[in-house]
Amino acid sequence: MRSTEGYTFRYETHCHTSWCSACAHSSPQEMAEAYLEKGYAGMVITDHFLRGNTAVDHSLSWEEKVTCYWNAYLAAAEFARGKNFSVLFGLEHMYGGGKEVLTYGIDLPFLLAHPGLHLFSLEEYARLVHEAGGVLSMAHPYRAAPYIDPEFRPQPQCLDGAEVFNFFNKTEENKEAVVLAEENGLFPTSGGDVHHAQSEAIGMAGIALKAPVASGKELAAVLKSRDYRLIIEGQLV
Ligand SMILES: [Zn+2]
Ligand SMILES: [Zn+2]
Repeated sequence: MRSTEGYTFRYETHCHTSWCSACAHSSPQEMAEAYLEKGYAGMVITDHFLRGNTAVDHSLSWEEKVTCYWNAYLAAAEFARGKNFSVLFGLEHMYGGGKEVLTYGIDLPFLLAHPGLHLFSLEEYARLVHEAGGVLSMAHPYRAAPYIDPEFRPQPQCLDGAEVFNFFNKTEENKEAVVLAEENGLFPTSGGDVHHAQSEAIGMAGIALKAPVASGKELAAVLKSRDYRLIIEGQLV
């Protein structure tokens, strides 16, 4: 087994807030507080984007809609100020058939510059995210659920990473994701997919870094470098 020594900064890579995800139950501040209490160094808020299970009002203008996502991030970041905890901005984008990609390394100016981004094909979405220095990790690639069309296969050519451990997936589903990542040279990510500040998943998933990261761009660079460890069922591997 490879060494996990020195990878002391834990980050959640996949969590939701009630401000922008219809299925989530806790505010951005409550989520940040829960991870801080678990000893995490930070978290990426990956609320469901506009084509997925969003809590954002579709009748708003593009600028207003994407600002809602940014405001959830800002609220958590404001809560975390001075507490040695970094909140990072991300998204979980549903591109069709209930299939979703976690998106890291993008920001508000990127969203403002691309009205209707949620409706683009995965190819086009991936191209723009990559152009902006961001990365995509497919969320729970083989989860079987009523809302996911199993005919919709992962498109590894558009991806940088794959979520090889999702706390709420079945073991076999996660194992299939490991194969997807290995066969296609994708970096592995681990996520709690947390929707509630009292969730049993908090502390069980994420990645562990050697040094803190202050932005989504820095996180994307670490993921690309692969110099991190996974947190699986609370253990570093
Ligand atoms: Zn959800
Ligand atoms: Zn999710």
